[in-house]
Amino acid sequence: MERDLISKGRKAAAARQAGCCKYCFVPFSVSPATAEHRVPRSKGGSNLGHNIDAACERCNKLKATMGAKRFVGVIKGTPQIGAPLELTLAWSRRRIWLKTHRVCRDIGRIVGMADTGPLGVGRAAA
Ligand SMILES: [Zn+2]
Repeated sequence: MERDLISKGRKAAAARQAGCCKYCFVPFSVSPATAEHRVPRSKGGSNLGHNIDAACERCNKLKATMGAKRFVGVIKGTPQIGAPLELTLAWSRRRIWLKTHRVCRDIGRIVGMADTGPLGVGRAAA
């Protein structure tokens, strides 16, 4: 029952996020989606859809018990020398995929196509 609820939330979130990780923007065709709790279960977060986003496995594991806002702040900032490898990789993935999605969006505009990627669905693209 709980597993079905989480799976349903993950699928809805993946669709809402244009098929990309909430944090690093890797497409789920490259790295499969996992259900990610905005407020971690360990901190009272529920399994209901409003608390579920879709994240790649690496971001989900790295985020662990951090809240979503804090985690975004952590992976947006340039890693310090000596930072954990997974943190540096998440920061790098995010930069690479954001740039890739921007190029796709720009090409789409040139050829007159609607932006269906993560930047075209109201995502913060900072
Ligand atoms: Zn990710």
